[in-house]
Amino acid sequence: MTIAASRIEEKLYQNRYLVDSGRPHIKVRRHQKPSANLLALTRVCPAQCYELTDEGQVEITADGCMECGTCRILCEASGEIEWNYPRGGFGVLFKFG
Ligand code: SF4
Repeated sequence: MTIAASRIEEKLYQNRYLVDSGRPHIKVRRHQKPSANLLALTRVCPAQCYELTDEGQVEITADGCMECGTCRILCEASGEIEWNYPRGGFGVLFKFG
């Protein structure tokens, strides 16, 4: 189990990411209290882009997002997040092999 996890991390480390400064492609709307789905993003995002602040807000730092769509499936329809692909030339660059 640990061996598999380290292999995945090693593979993910090969990816590159070009940050589009000041133009995050995913945004979290302000909320009184995070829903169960929104809160789950702090655990299920494979790039660990989501975190819960001391003020009880779920926030995102989209740098490193792998565009897997998990957060889009869980929270876009409810309006809790706004999800777009990065602009052309920005975002993740996958390295295979
Ligand atoms: S698309 Fe995937 S990697 Fe990107 S922020 Fe959402 S859950 Fe994380």
